[in-house]
Amino acid sequence: MRSGELSFTGPFTFFKADHLPLAEVPVSTLDVGVLGLPYDFAVGYRAGARWAPGAVRRASARFALPPEGYYDLATGRRRLAGVRLADLGDVDPAQLDREETFARVTEAARSARRSCGLPVFVGGDHSLTFPLLRAYDDEPVHVLQFDAHLDYSDVRNATAYSNSSPFRRAVEAVPGITGITVVGLRGMRFDQEAVTAARARGHTLLGAEVVHGSIQEALNALPSATRLYVSFDVDVIEPAELPGTSSPEPGGLSFTQAVTLLGAAIARNRLVGLDLMELAPELDPSGRSELLAARLLAEALAAWWDARTT
Ligand code: MN
Ligand code: MN
Repeated sequence: MRSGELSFTGPFTFFKADHLPLAEVPVSTLDVGVLGLPYDFAVGYRAGARWAPGAVRRASARFALPPEGYYDLATGRRRLAGVRLADLGDVDPAQLDREETFARVTEAARSARRSCGLPVFVGGDHSLTFPLLRAYDDEPVHVLQFDAHLDYSDVRNATAYSNSSPFRRAVEAVPGITGITVVGLRGMRFDQEAVTAARARGHTLLGAEVVHGSIQEALNALPSATRLYVSFDVDVIEPAELPGTSSPEPGGLSFTQAVTLLGAAIARNRLVGLDLMELAPELDPSGRSELLAARLLAEALAAWWDARTT
């Protein structure tokens, strides 16, 4: 950790943690390992998520974690004190060889699971959540998806592996996925067949208007007491707050609403994996999108460590 330095000094790693290449990390030595997945060949609209791991590294220097943890104003406690955190580097995509890229991502996720209490994945476009979830095929898991979009289409434009289909492919390939809860849905581009199929499988679909109407109603609908994988598509956030994403949809969740829901879901379940997808930093020259994304990751890690240690 290099938390004593100024936020603009490099080299940039996630939260200025040590860089430990995944292949060199011994089994079960880390609490948290953050792995970059710079791949955006599966987007249906505006590209650029390949730049997200680098941008989040740079922005997360603002939240470089001191060994004693972050001091929390509201509670007077230290958050993330003593956590063993490392930057695991990036998975090198095989560009247009989708199958090979996905195989590398699944293998890296399996390896990250062996090394860390909590593996965290920074995409990349949302197609990658399918190969990530393939690495969770040994125990039952509930998936909580934050997203403006359902991403449950069978096929889009003749491909079954785009960022519109990861959760459809995941439930087909990973029988241990007990359920999927999606929060923040909105827009005018829903695939009716996908909605019908998701409902038929018993998925819980919560529109953004539910969160805006009553955060308590949304909180009540979240899963509890289960092994939980959280997939966070940053386009769930209102684009006025986070414009740097492929497919922005107005009417999104505020940062505050997202942190409330994310924190509660982490507190009441056993978090076993977290991904943050679809950040396209070059679409937001102001830089606030990656700052918000880095902050969301810090909040999620702090909620997870709180749940483990208090
Ligand atoms: Mn989305
Ligand atoms: Mn998505």
